[in-house]
Amino acid sequence: MAQGKIRKLLIANRGEIAVRIIRAARDSGIATVQVYSDADANGRAVAMADEAVNIGPPQAAKSYLDIDALLQAARDTGADAIHPGYGFLAENAGFADAVEAAGLVFVGPSGDTIRLMGDKAAARAEARKAGVPTVPGSDGLVEDMDAAAKLAAEIGFPVMIKAAAGGGGRGIRVAHDAEEFARLAPQAASEARAAFGDGGIYIEKVIERARHIEVQVLGDGSNVVHFFERECSLQRRRQKVWEEAPSVVLSEKVREELCASAVALAKAVGYRGAGTIEYLYDDVSGDFFFIEMNTRIQVEHPVTEMICGVDLVAEMIRIAGGEKLGRTQADIARTGHAIEVRLNAEDPANNFMPFPGVVGELLTPDGPGVRFDHMLYPGYAVPPFYDSLLGKLIVWGEDRERALLRLGRALRELKVEGLPTTAPLFAALLESDDLRASAVHTRWLEPWLETNLDLIKQKGGGNT
Ligand code: ADP
Ligand code: ADP
Ligand code: MG
Repeated sequence: MAQGKIRKLLIANRGEIAVRIIRAARDSGIATVQVYSDADANGRAVAMADEAVNIGPPQAAKSYLDIDALLQAARDTGADAIHPGYGFLAENAGFADAVEAAGLVFVGPSGDTIRLMGDKAAARAEARKAGVPTVPGSDGLVEDMDAAAKLAAEIGFPVMIKAAAGGGGRGIRVAHDAEEFARLAPQAASEARAAFGDGGIYIEKVIERARHIEVQVLGDGSNVVHFFERECSLQRRRQKVWEEAPSVVLSEKVREELCASAVALAKAVGYRGAGTIEYLYDDVSGDFFFIEMNTRIQVEHPVTEMICGVDLVAEMIRIAGGEKLGRTQADIARTGHAIEVRLNAEDPANNFMPFPGVVGELLTPDGPGVRFDHMLYPGYAVPPFYDSLLGKLIVWGEDRERALLRLGRALRELKVEGLPTTAPLFAALLESDDLRASAVHTRWLEPWLETNLDLIKQKGGGNT
């Protein structure tokens, strides 16, 4: 029996997240329609779905970002709901509005919520209103460059110049002094206009040696619960490469404060669906600062699913179908420790150069506590047009030590022939004492990569 009013779900995405959404829909008794570009006819999600519809050429602008083509595919197949996944149109308020205007269900928050929280400067203001600490910085958008330069000096350099419409690690610059600020700020504004169609920028103080900690929330428009935190401090170019839950540095008291602040903010905006509130955490002072909200399912959601025993994608579909949360905070518990690593078609020993290619032999890890969310099969030709994420290897252990052992075991079982992947990076990272002790921060990985190239090569990187 289908749940709520959704009977057939169209997946407006591709790759591993499309596979993930098909599974959640099927586990909920809902039929699936997978759209695909000409470059993705060989995709695993296309083979898995009940129906598949070609929506255009490889370029995303002409397929996965083509709102008219997506709505037409939904009409042609009689789909009654659309799941946007992450990336592409997931945080596009106009898309959410268009889906609803077409009489379909958008699996996510309302267009108005996306508009409010997707604008990173507006979201900062909402956070402050809800009593959530934000990074010291500008009050809203920077309009006047002279006033902004003065403010930057007051906050203290280095400062970050961020695009209000930025995301995916893009649209961020660091200015170390007034001269650099005067040069970078106008440049950042014009680049944001070109890249995101919105030139709005704002300023934040750089929090040095911070950890990235985020809280998973789920709301039904009136109530909100959290599913604890994830730590994503291992980043390269401000993009996450390794994520864990829980964060081992939070005391129970800080954890409660952090999660309560996320719930307060989500409640203040009447949040509906799955969302993530991102913070920077200073583990010396114990202070946390809101940085942004992602109004969608995140890449790293499985670590939360592993420790909380919840299917977040099924939950967001259920709520989109009009159902209530059906649980209180007291019903949500966590157990053990989970780690996710991102398997990209990139060579970690060659500056992470993307290497799309054809998958040869494939051996996938499994067994107790191992989950591999991916899009691979032997003979699969990885198209060069999209994000290089092939999949995510997720492990669970009773504690972090056992999760680390299990990650090592799973990586030894994994074999992907035919193209380089980031797997050797993770095998190398497991030998780092700092990582094993979780003595890391958001700028820890980049210098480590510089000094550990030989170790990454020894683990199999660089065979390109
Ligand atoms: P995006 O929208 O691209 O995800 P975020 O604002 O979430 O951008 O920031 C991405 C990453 O950049 C953070 O995880 C962190 O590593 C770094 N970062 C962002 N803001 C700051 C800050 N004020 N100080 C230090 N690092 C920051
Ligand atoms: P998560 O917070 O889920 O880890 P990421 O920051 O890694 O999210 O981004 C998830 C996906 O969305 C990636 O494929 C990323 O490239 C894409 N993405 C998110 N926002 C943008 C944006 N504004 N422009 C381009 N890509 C984006
Ligand atoms: Mg972010």
